[in-house]
Amino acid sequence: MNKRKAVNWNKIDNDIYKIFWDQNVRQFWVDEEIPVTEDKKDWENNKLTPKEKDTYEKVLAALTLLDTEQGGLGMPSIVLKVDNLHQKAIFSFMQMMEQMHAKSYSTIFSTLSSEARIQELFDWVEDNQYLQQKINLIIDHYQTNLTNEKFSLYRALSSAVLLETFLFYSGFFYPLWFAGKGMLIRSAEIISLIIRDESIHGVFTGLIAQEELEKFAESEQVMLQEEVIEMVKNLHKIEMQYTADLYGSLSLDVEVMKYVEYNADKALMNLGMDPYFNIKEEDVNPIILNGISPETKNHDFFSTKGNGYIKTTKTDAIDDSVFDI
Ligand code: MN
Ligand code: MN
Repeated sequence: MNKRKAVNWNKIDNDIYKIFWDQNVRQFWVDEEIPVTEDKKDWENNKLTPKEKDTYEKVLAALTLLDTEQGGLGMPSIVLKVDNLHQKAIFSFMQMMEQMHAKSYSTIFSTLSSEARIQELFDWVEDNQYLQQKINLIIDHYQTNLTNEKFSLYRALSSAVLLETFLFYSGFFYPLWFAGKGMLIRSAEIISLIIRDESIHGVFTGLIAQEELEKFAESEQVMLQEEVIEMVKNLHKIEMQYTADLYGSLSLDVEVMKYVEYNADKALMNLGMDPYFNIKEEDVNPIILNGISPETKNHDFFSTKGNGYIKTTKTDAIDDSVFDI
């Protein structure tokens, strides 16, 4: 019989596990606490054109798919594969929040959209080739992670970081865009809370990915990092098409891609790699930065200053020094 070990929170290999556990718990939130109904007046008073409404709804439906897969397959595959019991606990908590994120978009839908329209949106998700392409690229690595392949955990961890710190942002853009102009601000509060979560998820998953990478020979590390860059390029190509398709007729596709590339760089930095697109914060449309709610404004654990320098900032009640790992 295997001797099974119990998780011992009184004896932790690395202080960061307690820090990340506490911060994740501190950030816990429930979608129903946000008074989304207040957005109804913006929606019903036709402040948005039909095309804008259509895009807004599609963006949220697409985000629902990404969180569904992250909660149902991505994080569970990582929970099963990591050995460390404290890491398992933290990833499990994060997995539960993915389900909260997925559910929260439905809270927005049920406030703004009709039942028939909601069904149409979920059908659209299944039929949008770009959306399906990008999530399937990520999912391939999650499924391989359940095998015994030597590099599978690193590939799953790095894919999770690309999903959370990079691919979500073509969707987050639009709610933030409206909130930056003072519209649909309650829904954007939900988005801000999700961004705050994804931010800590990306940092933690990135750290564990870096630890995993160090287990391999130098040449293998180079190969795996080249794979990540290749994946970024492939996903970027799909994002260009997806963004043109969704935002092109609103003439926002260029702005969206800049924001997406800015976040792709952050994903690479979470993985301990150099930025690829070199987009600076001042290149991002200020309306977007304005759209992130003030309470969650400091959502960047890692923000760039100059040449790929990584700086640790804070969210809510946490001191900078704790992330100096
Ligand atoms: Mn999520
Ligand atoms: Mn996440």
